[in-house]
Amino acid sequence: MDLTSTQKRFLNEWMDFLKIPSVSADPEFKNDVKTAAEWVKNALQKAGCLKTEIIKTPGHPIVYGEYLIDSSLPTVLVYGHYDVQPPDPVELWDSPPFEPIVKATEIHPDGAVFARGACDDKGQVFMHIKALEVMLNEGELDCNIKFMIEGEEEVGSDNLEEFVKNNKEKLNCDIILISDTGMISKTQPSISTGLRGLSYMEVTVTGPNRDLHSGLYGGSVANPINILCDMIAKLHDKDRKVTIPGFYDRVEELSQEDRNEMAKAPFDLEEFKSSIGINAVQGEAGYNNEERRTIRPTLDVNGIWGGYIGEGAKTVIASKAHAKISMRLVPDQEWNEISDLFSNYFTSLAPEGVKVEVLKHHGGYAYVTPTDTIGYQAAHKAYNDTFGIAPIPSRGGGSIPIVPMFEKELGVKSILMGFGLDSDAIHSPNEHYGLFNFFKGIETIPRFYHHYIALLRQQ
Ligand SMILES: [Zn+2]
Repeated sequence: MDLTSTQKRFLNEWMDFLKIPSVSADPEFKNDVKTAAEWVKNALQKAGCLKTEIIKTPGHPIVYGEYLIDSSLPTVLVYGHYDVQPPDPVELWDSPPFEPIVKATEIHPDGAVFARGACDDKGQVFMHIKALEVMLNEGELDCNIKFMIEGEEEVGSDNLEEFVKNNKEKLNCDIILISDTGMISKTQPSISTGLRGLSYMEVTVTGPNRDLHSGLYGGSVANPINILCDMIAKLHDKDRKVTIPGFYDRVEELSQEDRNEMAKAPFDLEEFKSSIGINAVQGEAGYNNEERRTIRPTLDVNGIWGGYIGEGAKTVIASKAHAKISMRLVPDQEWNEISDLFSNYFTSLAPEGVKVEVLKHHGGYAYVTPTDTIGYQAAHKAYNDTFGIAPIPSRGGGSIPIVPMFEKELGVKSILMGFGLDSDAIHSPNEHYGLFNFFKGIETIPRFYHHYIALLRQQ
């Protein structure tokens, strides 16, 4: 790919952004998160925002920017996040996670930038900032734009809801534009029309009051790690259905027609398996692979620990065992209710001889964007313009809990114009984002604004 001098500059700026280790989960990186917020503020200013500010929260700051032309014109609010997932396990990265480099891959022969946050969500946020710059340079912006870029998305957006509730006037808009999702492939764009919700739990099983000698006590004492494994095993039945009573009560069942529509998206099971190095898929009986990871709720252990995990052997029965467990939810499950159902059921699984504590972390609702809205139609036309092929509506398996929150608080729908690919390895070692995707995003976003305004005028 021959880059123009402007594209080279965009690429260099993006790589500077990626050098800041803005890991929101780890307090050790607090200052770096702050630095990233300042970087975003400057970038917004440089792109042409007339007003920018950093808003402090009890956690990490929110960056706000605006380019307001006229209050009679429609307003688009761009949301994204500048914080990133921890890079661990760092030893599995081929290059350091905060030293971005461009490398060619099979999917990205033109090169991809490898770094934590390359795609999620620094790369995708930066496309919007540069799209503003391009539109202003070409004098083609015909509406108001606001930016709200937060620093706590990867840790549950704890302070964003409060900010949104208290700043409805400031955030007043007609539509919200978000690039924090993916598309089917570089040749087949898609627009996310739905996201799963989330309920995140942490459990601790406590047995004896101290770690015990497994020879002296083994056999007579409930071992918290064994018990925790038993309890986790009981959370699914043989059909891989979640056994928590009431878990499926509110689940929206899709019609066969909707399921047929979804099945039109190109999908190759062999490619899917080989891309993640497995020889078989598994999941809930009665649903295909794609349905299992989008329209069906799930329960997964995200981490499990306890006892001796150092080198060599230590014969010990640990006093405590822990696990982090997340559930992906679908419309119309209520995450608070699911958290309670989990908590009650999990506690009920504990045998005598151990104590169980359940901690409820964050959660969020699932979300659906109708395809018959002007916002969706504008996005559809935008992808069609730049990819030369109509995008397919697709339900995503991930969660962005703030999307349903925006709808509730601001009364506005969000359009999820993602440009990432499943192969980008977001949240994993060697996260990367294709130059093709990055520049295609910068090209496609202005087309969205163009069609959005045009469609509104036709109304
Ligand atoms: Zn993200």
